[in-house]
Amino acid sequence: MYCPKCGKADQSPETYCRQCGVFLPDLSKPLKTGHTPQEHVTANIVLTSMTIVVAFTLAILLWTILGFRGNTHPLIYATAGLLFAMGIWHIQTLWRMLMLRKHFKKGKRAQDIEIHGGTVDTDKLLEPSDFENMVPASVTDRTTKHLAESKQRSSP
Ligand SMILES: [Zn+2]
Repeated sequence: MYCPKCGKADQSPETYCRQCGVFLPDLSKPLKTGHTPQEHVTANIVLTSMTIVVAFTLAILLWTILGFRGNTHPLIYATAGLLFAMGIWHIQTLWRMLMLRKHFKKGKRAQDIEIHGGTVDTDKLLEPSDFENMVPASVTDRTTKHLAESKQRSSP
């Protein structure tokens, strides 16, 4: 096979290009099944949202239940503060993942073309539609009904 990046010939698939070092996947094999990056992002969005809720809830509970009592150990404030910071950090992560998901959705079409054989002008792959010999739905509907009725009549 040829290297899709630099074009060097006589390469074996599932290895790295001997000229430019890019990985050459075996295109004759079906694409790997399993989780797509999009699925990972969605799973991460769910997990991150849960972490945010838990972190903030615990921080607020620590503060309201154990805090402001005069004899509160400083560790309580430190822990609550840390949980709060963690929540904020995860909001930032969540935001980035939402952006990433948006990016995936936008780039999906372009990516599909890239995977299935280089730069293809997909608009030119499809023939214009031909409705000349099309049978309207009402005709086939009536035929099906007619056949069903005649079948019923003929059966004992
Ligand atoms: Zn190469």
